[in-house]
Amino acid sequence: MTDVVLEARDVHCSFKVSTGFMRPKRLLRAVNGVSLNLRAGESVGLVGESGCGKTTVAMMLLGLIRPARGEVRLDGLPMHELDQRDIARRVQPIFQDPYSSLNPRKRIADIIALPLRVHRMGSTDDRRKKVVEMMDMVGLSPRYADSYPDQLSGGQRQRVAIARALIMRPRIVICDEPTSSLDVSMQSQILNLLLDLQRELGLAYLLISHNLAVVEHMAVRAYVMYLGRVVEETDSEQLFRAPAHPYTRALLASVLTPEPGRGVPDTHLGVAYANSIDPPSGCTFHPRCTKAMAVCSTIVPHPVTHGATRHVECHLYSEAPNPAPV
Ligand code: SF4
Repeated sequence: MTDVVLEARDVHCSFKVSTGFMRPKRLLRAVNGVSLNLRAGESVGLVGESGCGKTTVAMMLLGLIRPARGEVRLDGLPMHELDQRDIARRVQPIFQDPYSSLNPRKRIADIIALPLRVHRMGSTDDRRKKVVEMMDMVGLSPRYADSYPDQLSGGQRQRVAIARALIMRPRIVICDEPTSSLDVSMQSQILNLLLDLQRELGLAYLLISHNLAVVEHMAVRAYVMYLGRVVEETDSEQLFRAPAHPYTRALLASVLTPEPGRGVPDTHLGVAYANSIDPPSGCTFHPRCTKAMAVCSTIVPHPVTHGATRHVECHLYSEAPNPAPV
């Protein structure tokens, strides 16, 4: 595929974590063989519950963590062979919380110009010109240039974060929960701004979110992660019309709607919560799965294609389960 601009190939990442006072550290397998790709100008969603490994994948795609196994490729080149300046010119992040990701002691113009300063790009005048241009592009009046973050609203701060991410003119932006800390009224404004910027600048977005409505609104394809694995990959339309994996179905069923009388949906996702230090055997979703069969607790499901779904890891769709136990 020639237009792939960012790709993770079977990446793995583990951390040693403390399990309590005077107890030995244990290995947390945050990402356990994830493959995904992003094409030029495309928006792709990466969804799953908190702790499933989405943010660790994002850190690897930004070159901030090197995978223990597997490889990340940026514009077809191995990420580990590129220097930080080269990576920063091609891919930038927008983080979840504009309150904590902006330095409260810096003025807005300095915050937006920071990537240019760090990478020693342009003169002071050039940088000032670019900052004003970016502020206009994200809908921020230049009168805020000398303000501090706490003088701005949540939505304005997120516009600052977007301007800072785009000032190096990257082609790829990794948006980690870009609207989850904002009021509902502000969320759609920021999402529409991201869509406008994508059209204008030809950006590719990887949208990391636990909010399926964000993915439905923005992404053409989506990857669903569970305990460090991608368990389903499909077009967004297919994902919302006919999800294949029982976990994806449960995620969709858990979305609250304002329908009168519908009540709070019971998806059983709350029972037998699993973690990445002691993952369940076989299919790691089996203790929570309402479709689990005997084979599910002992045998890891193969990734298979199922109809329009490109990748699903579930024995419901396997012709012959992988005989190798975990
Ligand atoms: Fe459920 Fe079994 Fe499919 Fe896992 S493999 S999702 S436990 S049916």
